[in-house]
Order: sequence, then C-alpha cells, then structure tokens
Amino acid sequence: QCRVVCPTAAITIKKDEDRVWEALNDPNTRVVAQIAPAVRIAVGDSFGIPKGENSMGKLVSALRRIGFDKVFDTSFGADLTVYEESAELVERLTKNENLPLFTSCCPGWVKFSDYKFPELKENISSCRSPQGMFSAVLKDYFKDDEKKTFVVSIMPCTAKKGEALRPENHTDGVQDTDAVITTAEAARMIRKAAIKFEELDEEAVDMPFGIASGGGVIFGVTGGVTEAVLRKICYDKDNNLSELSRIEFSGVRGLDSVKETSIMLGDREVKIAIVHGLGVASQLIEEMKAGKRHYDFVEVMACRRGCVMGGGQPVPAGPKTKKARVKGLYKVDTGSQVRTSNENPMVEVIYRDIIKGREHELLHTRH
Ligand code: SF4
Repeated sequence: QCRVVCPTAAITIKKDEDRVWEALNDPNTRVVAQIAPAVRIAVGDSFGIPKGENSMGKLVSALRRIGFDKVFDTSFGADLTVYEESAELVERLTKNENLPLFTSCCPGWVKFSDYKFPELKENISSCRSPQGMFSAVLKDYFKDDEKKTFVVSIMPCTAKKGEALRPENHTDGVQDTDAVITTAEAARMIRKAAIKFEELDEEAVDMPFGIASGGGVIFGVTGGVTEAVLRKICYDKDNNLSELSRIEFSGVRGLDSVKETSIMLGDREVKIAIVHGLGVASQLIEEMKAGKRHYDFVEVMACRRGCVMGGGQPVPAGPKTKKARVKGLYKVDTGSQVRTSNENPMVEVIYRDIIKGREHELLHTRH
C-alpha cells in the first residue's frame, strides 16, 4: 500500500487514492464522483486513446466498474458558478464597488493572491469553485440517506486538494469534498482494477445533475470562464443566443498571455482581461495598480492554457497534445445540445428544490 508513514509511528498519512479505495470497500458508504471538465480530454492519454479525444463516457463507465455509486460531471458545478459569478459581477457593476472582480475558480491563483496581493481580497469573487459548489450540493442532496456520503472529485491538478481542505470552503465546518484525485491518479486506479479502459462502452453520468452546458465544459481552457459568464450575461440582456458566436470571436479564445475584450451593459462598457500563468498575472496586476490598465472583470488561471495543462494531467504533453486538448474541449462544447447555463433545465430545478434560500451557505465562501 502506498502510505506515507512517520518513522516514529506517531502519524500515518494515507494518500488520497488509499482513502478512496477504503471508502469504496465500505458497504456503509455511498461513494460519489464528480469529474472536472479538463479531465475528459486528457485521461485517454494514459490508455493510448488519440490525444484530445473526449473519454468522458469511458471514464464514467470505468468509475462505475471500480465501485463508485454515482458519477457526475463538474461542468454542472461550473453552470452554478456561472449563475453566481455573473450575478456577482452585475451587482458589483451596479454598486460600483470592489471592481475589478477577479475569478476564484483556480485555487493556484487564489493561494498566490493570498500572499502576493492580499489587498485584492475583496476583489476576489466570493463564489466557490465548481468543485466546491458541486460537492456542497451533493453532500446536501444525499444528507438524509442512511449511508454516509463520500465525495471524490477527479481534477486536473493537486491544487484542488488544497482547495478542498481550506476551512472557508467547508459547509457548517464540514469538508464537502472528501478526497481529490488527479487525472493521473484516476488512471492509476483504473489500471490497478485491471479495467481495459480503451475497450469500455461509453456511459452517461447520473441524474438529477446529469445535464451540463458546453459553457460549463470550457471552464477547462483559458478564457472559458469568461466566455461562459458572457454567454449568461448576454443571454439575460438579449434573451437569445445571437451573441454566442460574437463572444467566441471577441478575443476570449486563443493563447495570448493577456487577452482583452469588452461588452456593453446598458450604456456602460465592461472591460475584461483574461490571463493565464501566474508570472503574467502578477505583471498585469502591477500595471493595474500603477493605473496603466483598467478592467471590471479579470479571469486568472495559474496554468498556461488553463486546466487542460494542469499538473495532475498525464505527461508527457508536448505541443501537439496541448493543441489537441484545447481543440477537444471546444469540440465538446459545440457538440453540446445545451451551450449556456441558462438553457440547462436542471440548474433551475436544483435552485428551486435544493439550494433555494441557501445560495450563500452552499455556493459562496469568503477568501
Ligand atoms: Fe488547477 Fe491549473 Fe486549473 Fe488552476 S489552472 S485549477 S492550478 S489545473
């Protein structure tokens, strides 16, 4: 067993994989998984599947064979994040306070801002990340069952493990995400279970959280959070999707270190920046502090290209793989019947039947 054992035997730290195996072997525990957007186009690398191909259906099938009771898509959590974050942006613009609003879904960035730019505390979104929101909703949804619920998230980086442990992300002092395993760790578990991943039939995720928008899926690539939020805001404004392709080509996509775009909300021009890589983010913030740049909304992802290139994804990943992963995620989006969180019928149901009146408790934090 892979365990980190203290030589004095005072402490034994179990690796997350061990804790997940233990939960899977406990008949009194319901083990629930959520799979992050960027995992689906990278996990196949570990099994010889063409780069960038969407292996979500095979991964769902593999997790069920390992023993997971329910399997969900974190892109549903991303749809919730879009709802909360777009409302937060509109509120701050209306009140003209704590601008620019910085995104909070990347724990690498949130932790970095804690010590490098503590003065930005009030500017960081109070929204939990998609992982955090979804785990809180899942724990709440299964709370009345006899079995204990153990939530496992499969994520593209180890920073998500730290995020799950941060007390400000817990609900009533209870940790919502019980274990985080990376894409590479999930692949190792699948191999350990002797499952022939590449031969599996594809399976769909479980209801009632089984529908996620393409906007939620592109959270896994730089610019994706902004694009999804703009889809929501423009939909609210115009009540149609005519803006969708305009947003796609407005500068939110691509690999420039800093991308800029803007939208009109009423007679106000909302200025937006998208940055990936903490060095570039740092430089951008210094320029903002010096008054050289002005924005209302800033998306920051710690990893270059975003989560598709997170540190927990399978390696090696050269230029062709990087390109294929980005292309793969956008392909999932264009192939989705639901492109924006507004059109996700399950989001409305969940707000009405589960979250109502407890949005702040379950979906927000205070960094
Ligand atoms: Fe993790 Fe990197 Fe994604 Fe941030 S950008 S959430 S550090 S994979």
